[in-house]
Amino acid sequence: MKKIIVAIDGFSSCGKSTMAKELAHETGYIYVDTGAMYRAVSLFCIRNGWMTETEMIEDQIEKNISSIQLEFKTNAGGKAEMYLNGENVENEIRTLEVANGASRVSTLGFVRRELVRQQQIMGLQKGIVMDGRDIGTVVFPEAELKIFLTASAEIRAQRRYDEMVAKGETVNFEDVLANVKERDDRDQNRAESPLRKASDAIVIDNSTLSIRQQQEILRTLFAEKTLD
Ligand code: C5P
Repeated sequence: MKKIIVAIDGFSSCGKSTMAKELAHETGYIYVDTGAMYRAVSLFCIRNGWMTETEMIEDQIEKNISSIQLEFKTNAGGKAEMYLNGENVENEIRTLEVANGASRVSTLGFVRRELVRQQQIMGLQKGIVMDGRDIGTVVFPEAELKIFLTASAEIRAQRRYDEMVAKGETVNFEDVLANVKERDDRDQNRAESPLRKASDAIVIDNSTLSIRQQQEILRTLFAEKTLD
Protein backbone atom coordinates (compact mmCIF):
# COMPACT_ATOMS: atom_id res chain seq x y z
CA MET A 1 0.00 0.00 0.00
CA LYS A 2 1.52 3.34 -0.92
CA LYS A 3 1.99 6.07 1.69
CA ILE A 4 0.16 9.30 1.03
CA ILE A 5 -0.50 12.75 2.48
CA VAL A 6 -4.06 13.41 3.65
CA ALA A 7 -5.01 17.10 3.86
CA ILE A 8 -8.20 17.97 5.76
CA ASP A 9 -9.29 21.59 5.56
CA GLY A 10 -12.45 23.39 6.55
CA PHE A 11 -14.17 25.85 8.84
CA SER A 12 -13.65 26.09 12.60
CA SER A 13 -15.26 23.44 14.79
CA CYS A 14 -16.55 21.23 11.99
CA GLY A 15 -14.90 18.09 13.32
CA LYS A 16 -11.71 18.10 11.26
CA SER A 17 -9.57 16.93 14.15
CA THR A 18 -11.95 14.10 15.12
CA MET A 19 -11.90 12.91 11.53
CA ALA A 20 -8.15 13.30 11.10
CA LYS A 21 -7.26 11.66 14.43
CA GLU A 22 -9.47 8.67 13.76
CA LEU A 23 -7.99 8.10 10.30
CA ALA A 24 -4.44 8.45 11.64
CA HIS A 25 -5.25 5.96 14.38
CA GLU A 26 -6.70 3.41 11.94
CA THR A 27 -3.87 3.70 9.45
CA GLY A 28 -0.87 4.26 11.72
CA TYR A 29 -0.29 7.66 10.10
CA ILE A 30 1.02 10.68 12.02
CA TYR A 31 -1.66 13.24 12.91
CA VAL A 32 -0.80 16.94 12.90
CA ASP A 33 -3.23 19.56 14.22
CA THR A 34 -1.95 22.77 12.61
CA GLY A 35 -4.58 24.84 14.45
CA ALA A 36 -2.77 23.93 17.69
CA MET A 37 0.39 25.52 16.27
CA TYR A 38 -1.39 28.83 15.51
CA ARG A 39 -3.02 28.64 18.94
CA ALA A 40 0.37 28.19 20.63
CA VAL A 41 1.73 31.25 18.79
CA SER A 42 -1.38 33.14 19.93
CA LEU A 43 -0.81 32.12 23.56
CA PHE A 44 2.84 33.16 23.34
CA CYS A 45 1.85 36.60 21.99
CA ILE A 46 -0.89 37.10 24.61
CA ARG A 47 1.44 36.15 27.46
CA ASN A 48 4.10 38.57 26.24
CA GLY A 49 1.63 41.41 25.80
CA TRP A 50 2.15 41.54 22.01
CA MET A 51 -1.52 40.86 21.39
CA THR A 52 -4.34 42.51 23.30
CA GLU A 53 -8.05 42.62 22.49
CA THR A 54 -7.49 45.61 20.27
CA GLU A 55 -3.98 45.43 18.86
CA MET A 56 -1.08 43.28 17.73
CA ILE A 57 2.48 44.54 18.03
CA GLU A 58 3.58 43.05 14.74
CA ASP A 59 7.25 44.03 14.83
CA GLN A 60 7.69 42.35 18.24
CA ILE A 61 5.94 39.20 17.02
CA GLU A 62 8.08 39.17 13.87
CA LYS A 63 11.29 39.69 15.86
CA ASN A 64 10.45 36.78 18.16
CA ILE A 65 8.78 34.28 15.85
CA SER A 66 11.97 32.29 15.36
CA SER A 67 12.35 31.86 19.15
CA ILE A 68 8.99 30.11 19.43
CA GLN A 69 9.65 26.40 19.60
CA LEU A 70 6.64 24.22 18.82
CA GLU A 71 6.54 20.50 19.33
CA PHE A 72 3.94 17.74 19.54
CA LYS A 73 4.55 15.05 22.18
CA THR A 74 2.41 11.98 22.69
CA ASN A 75 1.05 11.54 26.22
CA ALA A 76 0.59 8.26 28.09
CA GLY A 77 -2.90 7.87 26.58
CA GLY A 78 -1.52 8.14 23.04
CA LYS A 79 -2.83 11.67 22.48
CA ALA A 80 -0.59 14.28 20.82
CA GLU A 81 -0.22 17.40 22.96
CA MET A 82 1.17 20.81 22.08
CA TYR A 83 4.37 22.02 23.73
CA LEU A 84 5.44 25.65 23.56
CA ASN A 85 9.12 26.19 24.37
CA GLY A 86 9.13 22.94 26.32
CA GLU A 87 5.91 23.62 28.30
CA ASN A 88 2.76 21.55 27.84
CA VAL A 89 0.11 24.11 26.80
CA GLU A 90 -2.53 21.68 25.49
CA ASN A 91 -5.22 22.97 27.91
CA GLU A 92 -4.35 26.69 27.77
CA ILE A 93 -4.62 26.81 23.97
CA ARG A 94 -8.23 25.55 23.95
CA THR A 95 -9.88 28.69 25.35
CA LEU A 96 -12.02 31.09 23.27
CA GLU A 97 -9.53 33.90 23.93
CA VAL A 98 -6.61 31.92 22.52
CA ALA A 99 -8.73 30.65 19.58
CA ASN A 100 -9.69 34.17 18.71
CA GLY A 101 -6.05 35.28 18.98
CA ALA A 102 -5.01 32.38 16.74
CA SER A 103 -7.33 33.55 14.02
CA ARG A 104 -5.72 37.01 14.32
CA VAL A 105 -2.03 35.97 14.37
CA SER A 106 -2.76 33.61 11.49
CA THR A 107 -3.44 36.64 9.27
CA LEU A 108 0.25 37.64 9.55
CA GLY A 109 2.29 36.51 6.55
CA PHE A 110 5.53 35.96 8.48
CA VAL A 111 3.72 33.75 11.03
CA ARG A 112 2.14 31.67 8.26
CA ARG A 113 5.42 31.28 6.36
CA GLU A 114 7.23 30.00 9.48
CA LEU A 115 4.49 27.52 10.44
CA VAL A 116 4.02 26.31 6.85
CA ARG A 117 7.79 25.69 6.66
CA GLN A 118 7.64 23.54 9.82
CA GLN A 119 4.54 21.68 8.57
CA GLN A 120 6.15 20.85 5.23
CA ILE A 121 9.13 19.30 7.05
CA MET A 122 6.72 17.11 9.06
CA GLY A 123 5.29 15.72 5.80
CA LEU A 124 8.53 14.86 4.05
CA GLN A 125 8.15 11.13 4.70
CA LYS A 126 4.39 11.15 3.85
CA GLY A 127 2.19 8.87 6.00
CA ILE A 128 0.63 11.96 7.55
CA VAL A 129 -2.88 13.31 8.17
CA MET A 130 -2.81 17.08 8.64
CA ASP A 131 -5.77 19.31 9.37
CA GLY A 132 -6.09 23.07 9.08
CA ARG A 133 -7.23 25.76 6.67
CA ASP A 134 -4.54 25.83 3.97
CA ILE A 135 -3.18 22.28 3.93
CA GLY A 136 -4.53 21.29 0.52
CA THR A 137 -3.93 24.70 -1.03
CA VAL A 138 -0.58 25.90 0.40
CA VAL A 139 1.17 23.39 2.68
CA PHE A 140 0.72 20.29 0.51
CA PRO A 141 -0.83 21.25 -2.83
CA GLU A 142 0.36 17.86 -4.09
CA ALA A 143 -1.44 15.88 -1.32
CA GLU A 144 -2.98 12.71 -2.75
CA LEU A 145 -6.21 13.00 -0.73
CA LYS A 146 -7.78 16.37 0.04
CA ILE A 147 -10.97 16.78 2.04
CA PHE A 148 -12.87 20.02 2.54
CA LEU A 149 -15.10 19.53 5.56
CA THR A 150 -18.03 21.79 6.24
CA ALA A 151 -21.21 22.16 8.34
CA SER A 152 -23.55 25.07 9.16
CA ALA A 153 -22.28 27.70 11.64
CA GLU A 154 -25.12 26.91 14.09
CA ILE A 155 -24.36 23.20 14.14
CA ARG A 156 -20.63 23.85 14.60
CA ALA A 157 -21.28 26.30 17.45
CA GLN A 158 -23.62 23.80 19.13
CA ARG A 159 -20.97 21.07 19.00
CA ARG A 160 -18.32 23.41 20.37
CA TYR A 161 -20.69 24.62 23.11
CA ASP A 162 -21.53 21.02 24.13
CA GLU A 163 -17.82 20.17 24.29
CA MET A 164 -17.06 23.16 26.53
CA VAL A 165 -20.02 22.49 28.82
CA ALA A 166 -18.94 18.84 29.10
CA LYS A 167 -15.54 20.09 30.27
CA GLY A 168 -17.30 22.06 33.02
CA GLU A 169 -16.79 25.49 31.45
CA THR A 170 -19.40 28.22 31.85
CA VAL A 171 -20.14 29.54 28.37
CA ASN A 172 -22.91 31.30 26.57
CA PHE A 173 -24.13 29.76 23.27
CA GLU A 174 -24.43 33.18 21.59
CA ASP A 175 -20.76 33.94 22.41
CA VAL A 176 -19.65 30.63 20.92
CA LEU A 177 -21.72 31.22 17.77
CA ALA A 178 -20.35 34.76 17.42
CA ASN A 179 -16.80 33.40 17.82
CA VAL A 180 -17.39 30.76 15.13
CA LYS A 181 -18.79 33.35 12.69
CA GLU A 182 -16.04 35.87 13.41
CA ARG A 183 -13.35 33.26 12.78
CA ASP A 184 -15.07 32.06 9.58
CA ASP A 185 -15.10 35.60 8.31
CA ARG A 186 -11.43 36.20 9.16
CA ASP A 187 -10.32 32.83 7.76
CA GLN A 188 -12.09 33.41 4.44
CA ASN A 189 -11.21 37.03 3.96
CA ARG A 190 -7.58 37.37 5.06
CA ALA A 191 -5.08 38.36 2.38
CA GLU A 192 -2.58 35.60 3.28
CA SER A 193 -3.70 32.07 2.33
CA PRO A 194 -7.43 32.54 2.96
CA LEU A 195 -9.52 29.44 3.60
CA ARG A 196 -10.44 28.04 0.17
CA LYS A 197 -11.44 24.67 -1.11
CA ALA A 198 -8.63 23.30 -3.28
CA SER A 199 -9.94 22.60 -6.79
CA ASP A 200 -9.22 18.88 -6.34
CA ALA A 201 -10.60 18.61 -2.77
CA ILE A 202 -13.62 16.44 -2.00
CA VAL A 203 -16.35 18.28 -0.08
CA ILE A 204 -17.98 16.54 2.87
CA ASP A 205 -20.82 18.41 4.58
CA ASN A 206 -21.24 16.65 7.90
CA SER A 207 -24.21 18.73 9.18
CA THR A 208 -26.41 15.63 9.11
CA LEU A 209 -23.80 12.85 9.16
CA SER A 210 -22.88 10.80 12.20
CA ILE A 211 -19.19 10.42 13.01
CA ARG A 212 -19.47 6.79 11.88
CA GLN A 213 -20.94 7.71 8.50
CA GLN A 214 -18.30 10.39 8.03
CA GLN A 215 -15.49 7.95 8.85
CA GLU A 216 -16.89 5.39 6.44
CA ILE A 217 -16.75 7.91 3.59
CA LEU A 218 -13.18 8.84 4.51
CA ARG A 219 -12.09 5.21 4.82
CA THR A 220 -13.38 4.47 1.32
CA LEU A 221 -11.61 7.49 -0.17
CA PHE A 222 -8.38 6.61 1.62
CA ALA A 223 -8.52 3.02 0.36
CA GLU A 224 -8.97 4.23 -3.23
CA LYS A 225 -6.02 6.60 -3.00
CA THR A 226 -3.61 4.13 -1.44
CA LEU A 227 -4.15 1.31 -3.95
CA ASP A 228 -0.84 0.61 -5.67
O1 C5P B 1 -8.40 24.63 13.89
P1 C5P B 1 -8.36 25.58 15.05
O2 C5P B 1 -9.68 26.16 15.40
O3 C5P B 1 -7.65 25.02 16.23
O4 C5P B 1 -7.44 26.80 14.54
C1 C5P B 1 -7.27 27.99 15.27
C2 C5P B 1 -7.15 29.15 14.30
O5 C5P B 1 -5.90 29.05 13.60
C3 C5P B 1 -8.22 29.19 13.21
O6 C5P B 1 -9.30 30.02 13.58
C4 C5P B 1 -7.51 29.73 11.99
O7 C5P B 1 -7.67 31.11 11.90
C5 C5P B 1 -6.04 29.45 12.24
N1 C5P B 1 -5.50 28.42 11.38
C6 C5P B 1 -4.99 28.79 10.14
N2 C5P B 1 -4.40 27.87 9.34
C7 C5P B 1 -4.31 26.60 9.71
C8 C5P B 1 -4.85 26.18 10.96
C9 C5P B 1 -5.45 27.12 11.77
O8 C5P B 1 -5.07 29.96 9.78
N3 C5P B 1 -3.69 25.73 8.91
